[in-house]
Amino acid sequence: MKILVINCGSSSLKFQLIDAVSEELIAKGLCERIGIDGSRLVYTPAGGEKQIKSVEMKDHTQAIGAMLEALTCEKTGVVKSLDEIGAVGHRIVHGGDKFASSTIINDEVISAIESCNELAPLHNPANLLGIAACKEHMPGTPMVAVFDTAFHQTMPEEAYLYGIPYEYYKKYRIRRYGFHGTSHSFVSARTAEVLGENYENLKIIVCHLGNGASISAVKNGKCIDTSMGLTPLEGLIMGTRSGDIDPAIMEFLAHKEKMGVEEIMDILNKKSGVLGVSDGFSSDFRDIEDAFEAGNEDCVRALKTFAHRVVKYIGAYTAEMGGVDAISFTAGVGENSPILRRMICAYLDIELNEEENIKRGEDVVISVPGSTTKVLVIPTNEELAIARETLALVK
Ligand code: ADP
Repeated sequence: MKILVINCGSSSLKFQLIDAVSEELIAKGLCERIGIDGSRLVYTPAGGEKQIKSVEMKDHTQAIGAMLEALTCEKTGVVKSLDEIGAVGHRIVHGGDKFASSTIINDEVISAIESCNELAPLHNPANLLGIAACKEHMPGTPMVAVFDTAFHQTMPEEAYLYGIPYEYYKKYRIRRYGFHGTSHSFVSARTAEVLGENYENLKIIVCHLGNGASISAVKNGKCIDTSMGLTPLEGLIMGTRSGDIDPAIMEFLAHKEKMGVEEIMDILNKKSGVLGVSDGFSSDFRDIEDAFEAGNEDCVRALKTFAHRVVKYIGAYTAEMGGVDAISFTAGVGENSPILRRMICAYLDIELNEEENIKRGEDVVISVPGSTTKVLVIPTNEELAIARETLALVK
C-alpha cells in the first residue's frame, strides 16, 4: 500500500509518498509560500530529478491539488491515479491529553484536535487545514492523525505537573506535554533493535538535537519524562529558543527594558538559544561549529552552554530511571555533529570510538566496545514512523 505522509504548516506543506510494505520512498516534496505571492512546488520522484515549479497556491486546498497533480503527472508522476494512494498520515503537533496514540481521523477526532488549538496556536490550525484539504481532494481515502505529543502521554503525574497551583492544571490543563514524540518513539525503538536487546528491558535517553531540541527518558519502552513542556520553549537550549530559564528573568527584563509579554516571548523564542548566547553570531549549528573550531570565543561559549544543558538533563534522566543503558543522538545536530557528541560524552566520561563517531547517515554505536552505557547515532525518520502508524491503523 502507498501512503501519503503530510506535515502541514501555516504557509508550507511537506509531503512524502512511501511504499508502506517495502518502506521505500516513492516521491517527496514541499509546497512553499502558501497564501503568499511567489508560491512554488518542489517535487522529487525517488531516483529522479528535483523539480521546482511556480504554482499559484492561494490556500492549502490549492497546495494539496498541486501536490496531487505532481504525483499523478503523466511524465514525472509516480502513480497513475489517486486510487493507488491507500491512506494519508497527518502529522499533528498537539493532541493535548486527549490522544495517547495515533487515530483514524473522523469528525469527532477533528473536533478534539480543534479543542487543542489554544495549546499550539501556530501549528494545530495549520494541521487541520491540511486534513480539510485532503478530505476535499480524496474524500474516500482513510486518514490517520499521528501526534507529536502522544508518545509522552505515558509520563507519570509527578513528571508532567508543574509546581504551580493545581487549580491551573484543572482549569486549563497546564502541564508538561512534550513534543517530537514520533522521533523519540522511533529512535528509542530502533536503539533496542540496533543493540539486539529487548526494548521492554532497556533504559534509553534520546537526544533529539535539531533547531528545536528535546530529550526524553524511555524506560522499558515507555516515555517517563521529556524536556519540552506545555510548549516547545522549555528544556534544552535550542537554535533560537532559550529552553529553561528562571521565570523571574521575565519580570526583571520587563522592568529594565520596558517590554511587554509579547516582546519578551519573542526574545525567548527567536533571539535566544545559541543565537543569543553567541551574541548574535548564528542560530545555525554549522556556522557555530566552524567558528568554534577556529576558536571564536562567542561560539565556544555557545556550544559549551548548549552541551552543558544536555548533560544536565542526561544526569537527571539517568537518576529518574535508576541508570541508563543507552544514549542515542538524532536530528540535524545530533546526527551530524561529532564535535558536540564528543563534548557531551567527555562530560559523562564515556569513551567514544572516533572512527564510528565521524560516520554519517547510518545507525552506529559510537561508544567503545564494552562501554557500560552504549552511545548511538540513530538517524530519525518521522515520515516513515507516520507511514507505519498509518498502515497499522488502516490495515
Ligand atoms: P528542525 O527540524 O528543528 O528545523 P533539524 O533537525 O533539521 O531541525 O536540524 C537543523 C540543525 O541541524 C541546524 O542548526 C543545522 O545547522 C544542523 N545541522 C545540519 N547539518 C549539520 C552538520 N553537518 N553539522 C552540524 N550541524 C548540522
